[in-house]
Formats: sequence, structure tokens, C-alpha cells
Amino acid sequence: MVDIAANLRDVRRRIAEAADRGGRDPAEITLVAVTKLFTVAHIQAAYELGVRHFGENRVHEAAEKIPIVNQWVEERALSPLTWHMVGHLQSRKAKDAIQLFDVIHSVDSLKLAERLDRVLPLFPAPLPPKVGGIEGGGGRKEGRKIMPILLEVNVSGEESKYGFALDRWAEDEEQRERFFAIVEEILALPQLEVRGLMTMAPIVADPEEARPCFRRLRHLRDALAERFPGEHWRHLSMGMTDDFEVAIEEGATIVRIGRAIFGERRET
Ligand SMILES: *Cc1c(COP(=O)(O)O)cnc(C)c1O
Repeated sequence: MVDIAANLRDVRRRIAEAADRGGRDPAEITLVAVTKLFTVAHIQAAYELGVRHFGENRVHEAAEKIPIVNQWVEERALSPLTWHMVGHLQSRKAKDAIQLFDVIHSVDSLKLAERLDRVLPLFPAPLPPKVGGIEGGGGRKEGRKIMPILLEVNVSGEESKYGFALDRWAEDEEQRERFFAIVEEILALPQLEVRGLMTMAPIVADPEEARPCFRRLRHLRDALAERFPGEHWRHLSMGMTDDFEVAIEEGATIVRIGRAIFGERRET
């Protein structure tokens, strides 16, 4: 295994330095360690180094690892961790995702949001209500599980990306208003708590090239906060191994980092 301790130290230092450059408080930035294609042993090693937020991108793989890790944590009476679903989620997997995850970053359609809202009441809230989610998120309403979610948006226009298409939202009123109408419907769903936006930047050679994408996401968040006042828009989940420092300078509150902590993934 690579030296996870050294890598994590390095990532934390780079997060703090980027926060500093952006005039931000590093305490408001949550590191989610993305463990897809890494093992339970990797997760445990990061946990022992203080990581409490983990991300997976596929329900099937998560279902094999999360219960093992949760049991390991419970048996040792360790502090709870928070599981983030960061990958594309099919509506028919909504139930499984609810069982496994505490936060879903990848809500990219009204259909998926409605499906999550409809099946959530089937699940009792964790007792005691799980702390975490993303601060204050999660928990319960009338004994039923509430799911904090982020809306995944595609602000780069890359066709390979999931997310609500918002590459021209600032100048294209129709695109913007179509999205805002969907947002209004999602905000009305009682079992979901919208907490912000998530995006994946295009893969580029120089992280500076991702900056406009992160900046567009922040401006979109500001526009949403103006239109729909309240607590919904606090989080910007953006930035991965190759671009997290730029994302933090542009306002990320959640960075999703895998390779910089755990090394390269094996090919599947
Ligand atoms: C894999 C993945 C990450 C982390 O990517 P790294 O390059 O390993 O840092 C972040 N977000 C999503 C949605 C991912 O699928």
C-alpha cells in the first residue's frame, strides 16, 4: 500500500494553503476520501488517520464495502462516519442507495429526486440520528429518514458528463428557467434536503483550465440563493485530485479526492 499517512498530510496541507489563498477558513472545507476501486483496508487506514467522510461512485461496489466498514466502526465504538454517493445513480437503485449512503451528491433529474423522496419513508431514521450528513444534514422527520442531497450540474457542456445541462445558464434564459422550475419542484419534496451543487470539471492538462467551470458553478449557486432563499445552497462539491486547489480558491466546500490519498487505481 502507498504511504497513505504521508499523502493525507500532503493533501491536508494543500487544502489549507489553497483556502488561505482564497481567503477562506479551511475548517469550512470537508475532505471526502473517494475510495472507489480501493479496498476496505484503504478505508480503515484513512479512518485511523482521522478521515470521517468517504465517497463511493457505484451502489454495487458500495454494498460490498460499506457494511463491513460500518460494522468495524461499531464494534470498536468508534465515531461514526459519513458515506457520500458521488457517482451517477439510476432511479431503480434509489432504494439501495438510501440504505447505504448519508448524502447523495449526484441528483441529476427530477425523476431521481422524486423516486428518492417516495422510497425514503420506507426507511426508519438511524437512531440516534446520525450526526454528519453534511453538518446538520440527514437525521429524521417524524421518525423517517431525511436525505441531504446535492444537485449535480454540468456547467462545462461536455457531453460525457452527467448532471443538469447548465452550460449556458447565465445567457440562456430558457435553460436557466427550465432548471429553476425543476429546482422548485425538488425543494418541495418533503424527505429531501437540498444542500447545494456538485460538478465534475472537464479533464484538462492544466488545472487552471478548470477554473472557469468552478467559477460558473459558484455564480449559479449565488443565483439560486437569490431566487430560493434559505439554507439550501451552502455546499459546492467540486474539485478532485487534479484540480482541488483551484476548486477551493473558487469556493468549494467539499472536495472529493481519491488518487492523491490512495495512489493510482488498478485498471478494471
Ligand atoms: C473518482 C471520483 C472522484 C475522485 O477522483 P480522483 O481523481 O481519484 O481524486 C471524485 N468525484 C467523483 C464523482 C468520482 O467518480
